[in-house]
Amino acid sequence: MKVFDLGCEAGHSFEGWFGSDDDYAQQKERGLLECPFCASRDISKRLSAPRLNLRAGGSVRSEGDAIPADAEVPAVPALPARPPSPEAAATMAVMQQAWLKAMRHVIENTEDVGGRFAEEARRIHYGESPERGIRGQTTPQERESLIDEGIEVVPLPMPKGLGGPLQ
Ligand SMILES: [Zn+2]
Repeated sequence: MKVFDLGCEAGHSFEGWFGSDDDYAQQKERGLLECPFCASRDISKRLSAPRLNLRAGGSVRSEGDAIPADAEVPAVPALPARPPSPEAAATMAVMQQAWLKAMRHVIENTEDVGGRFAEEARRIHYGESPERGIRGQTTPQERESLIDEGIEVVPLPMPKGLGGPLQ
Protein backbone atom coordinates (compact mmCIF):
# COMPACT_ATOMS: atom_id res chain seq x y z
CA MET A 1 0.00 0.00 0.00
CA LYS A 2 1.30 3.42 -0.91
CA VAL A 3 0.03 6.74 0.35
CA PHE A 4 0.38 9.82 -1.78
CA ASP A 5 -0.34 13.41 -0.88
CA LEU A 6 -2.67 14.68 -3.54
CA GLY A 7 -4.12 18.01 -4.36
CA CYS A 8 -6.76 19.40 -6.67
CA GLU A 9 -6.73 22.56 -8.72
CA ALA A 10 -8.74 24.34 -6.02
CA GLY A 11 -6.01 23.74 -3.47
CA HIS A 12 -7.68 20.98 -1.51
CA SER A 13 -5.28 18.39 -0.31
CA PHE A 14 -5.93 14.84 0.66
CA GLU A 15 -4.32 11.45 0.69
CA GLY A 16 -4.74 8.77 -1.90
CA TRP A 17 -4.01 5.17 -1.08
CA PHE A 18 -2.88 2.90 -3.85
CA GLY A 19 -1.70 -0.64 -4.22
CA SER A 20 1.29 0.52 -6.23
CA ASP A 21 2.65 3.33 -8.36
CA ASP A 22 1.08 1.61 -11.36
CA ASP A 23 -2.27 1.49 -9.62
CA TYR A 24 -2.09 5.21 -9.11
CA ALA A 25 -1.00 5.88 -12.68
CA GLN A 26 -3.82 3.74 -14.06
CA GLN A 27 -6.49 5.37 -11.92
CA LYS A 28 -5.29 8.79 -12.96
CA GLU A 29 -5.14 7.76 -16.59
CA ARG A 30 -8.71 6.54 -16.46
CA GLY A 31 -9.98 9.64 -14.71
CA LEU A 32 -10.94 7.73 -11.59
CA LEU A 33 -9.24 10.13 -9.23
CA GLU A 34 -11.22 13.00 -7.88
CA CYS A 35 -11.08 15.49 -5.07
CA PRO A 36 -13.20 14.32 -2.10
CA PHE A 37 -14.07 17.94 -1.32
CA CYS A 38 -15.03 19.42 -4.66
CA ALA A 39 -15.03 16.41 -6.99
CA SER A 40 -12.46 18.03 -9.24
CA ARG A 41 -10.74 15.55 -11.51
CA ASP A 42 -7.76 17.84 -11.92
CA ILE A 43 -5.66 16.02 -9.35
CA SER A 44 -1.95 16.17 -8.95
CA LYS A 45 0.51 14.51 -6.65
CA ARG A 46 2.29 16.63 -4.13
CA LEU A 47 5.65 15.89 -2.67
CA SER A 48 4.55 16.80 0.80
CA ALA A 49 1.50 17.86 2.71
CA PRO A 50 0.74 21.58 2.70
CA ARG A 51 1.78 23.78 5.54
CA LEU A 52 -1.36 24.75 7.35
CA ASN A 53 -0.23 27.41 9.75
CA LEU A 54 0.54 30.93 8.75
CA ARG A 55 3.69 31.26 10.78
CA ALA A 56 3.59 29.71 14.18
CA GLY A 57 3.73 26.00 14.65
CA GLY A 58 4.98 23.40 12.31
CA SER A 59 3.65 21.75 9.26
CA VAL A 60 1.01 19.11 9.35
CA ARG A 61 1.83 15.76 7.86
CA SER A 62 -0.02 12.60 8.24
CA GLU A 63 1.92 9.55 9.10
CA GLY A 64 2.01 6.71 6.70
CA ASP A 65 4.12 5.01 4.16
CA ALA A 66 6.89 7.23 3.00
CA ILE A 67 6.73 8.48 -0.54
CA PRO A 68 9.50 6.73 -2.43
CA ALA A 69 12.47 8.90 -3.23
CA ASP A 70 12.03 8.24 -6.91
CA ALA A 71 8.45 9.54 -6.84
CA GLU A 72 9.36 12.86 -8.39
CA VAL A 73 7.23 12.34 -11.42
CA PRO A 74 4.15 14.40 -10.76
CA ALA A 75 1.85 11.50 -11.04
CA VAL A 76 -1.58 11.92 -9.64
CA PRO A 77 -3.66 9.40 -7.85
CA ALA A 78 -7.12 9.84 -6.61
CA LEU A 79 -10.08 8.10 -5.24
CA PRO A 80 -12.00 5.60 -7.26
CA ALA A 81 -15.25 7.03 -8.54
CA ARG A 82 -16.92 3.64 -8.47
CA PRO A 83 -19.09 2.53 -5.56
CA PRO A 84 -16.70 1.67 -2.77
CA SER A 85 -15.88 -1.93 -2.14
CA PRO A 86 -15.52 -3.02 1.49
CA GLU A 87 -11.76 -2.58 1.06
CA ALA A 88 -12.24 0.89 -0.35
CA ALA A 89 -14.60 1.78 2.46
CA ALA A 90 -11.97 0.69 4.96
CA THR A 91 -9.42 2.81 3.14
CA MET A 92 -11.75 5.78 3.29
CA ALA A 93 -12.16 5.28 7.01
CA VAL A 94 -8.40 5.33 7.45
CA MET A 95 -8.12 8.45 5.34
CA GLN A 96 -10.84 10.10 7.34
CA GLN A 97 -8.99 9.34 10.54
CA ALA A 98 -5.77 10.76 9.17
CA TRP A 99 -7.63 13.84 8.09
CA LEU A 100 -9.31 14.33 11.45
CA LYS A 101 -5.96 13.88 13.15
CA ALA A 102 -4.47 16.61 10.99
CA MET A 103 -7.46 18.83 11.72
CA ARG A 104 -7.00 18.36 15.44
CA HIS A 105 -3.36 19.32 15.08
CA VAL A 106 -4.31 22.52 13.30
CA ILE A 107 -6.98 23.36 15.81
CA GLU A 108 -4.58 22.83 18.71
CA ASN A 109 -1.90 24.98 17.14
CA THR A 110 -3.85 27.90 15.80
CA GLU A 111 -6.10 30.51 17.26
CA ASP A 112 -9.64 30.61 15.95
CA VAL A 113 -10.41 34.16 14.91
CA GLY A 114 -13.56 33.21 13.06
CA GLY A 115 -14.90 35.83 10.70
CA ARG A 116 -12.10 38.23 11.60
CA PHE A 117 -9.61 36.05 9.76
CA ALA A 118 -8.76 38.44 6.94
CA GLU A 119 -8.48 41.40 9.30
CA GLU A 120 -6.35 39.49 11.79
CA ALA A 121 -4.11 38.05 9.08
CA ARG A 122 -3.39 41.58 7.91
CA ARG A 123 -2.68 42.80 11.43
CA ILE A 124 -0.19 40.00 11.93
CA HIS A 125 1.34 40.60 8.54
CA TYR A 126 1.85 44.28 9.25
CA GLY A 127 3.11 43.72 12.77
CA GLU A 128 0.04 45.07 14.55
CA SER A 129 -0.75 41.75 16.18
CA PRO A 130 1.56 39.13 17.66
CA GLU A 131 2.73 36.54 15.19
CA ARG A 132 0.90 33.28 15.51
CA GLY A 133 -0.96 30.73 13.52
CA ILE A 134 -4.59 31.60 13.06
CA ARG A 135 -7.57 30.03 11.41
CA GLY A 136 -10.98 31.32 10.57
CA GLN A 137 -13.39 31.95 7.79
CA THR A 138 -12.94 34.21 4.85
CA THR A 139 -14.37 34.63 1.40
CA PRO A 140 -12.52 33.66 -1.76
CA GLN A 141 -12.31 37.35 -2.63
CA GLU A 142 -10.74 38.22 0.71
CA ARG A 143 -8.38 35.32 0.35
CA GLU A 144 -7.24 36.55 -3.03
CA SER A 145 -6.58 40.04 -1.81
CA LEU A 146 -4.62 38.67 1.15
CA ILE A 147 -2.50 36.66 -1.24
CA ASP A 148 -2.05 39.77 -3.39
CA GLU A 149 -0.67 41.50 -0.33
CA GLY A 150 1.83 38.73 0.16
CA ILE A 151 0.03 37.16 3.10
CA GLU A 152 0.27 33.41 3.26
CA VAL A 153 -3.16 31.79 3.32
CA VAL A 154 -3.93 28.12 3.00
CA PRO A 155 -7.48 27.08 2.16
CA LEU A 156 -8.40 24.21 4.38
CA PRO A 157 -11.73 22.51 3.94
CA MET A 158 -13.20 21.23 7.17
CA PRO A 159 -14.95 17.92 7.56
CA LYS A 160 -18.70 18.30 7.71
CA GLY A 161 -19.90 19.15 11.16
CA LEU A 162 -16.77 20.99 12.23
CA GLY A 163 -17.75 24.30 10.77
CA GLY A 164 -16.79 26.33 7.75
CA PRO A 165 -13.52 26.29 5.88
CA LEU A 166 -10.38 26.78 7.91
CA GLN A 167 -7.60 28.97 6.80
ZN1 LIG B 1 -10.95 20.06 -4.50
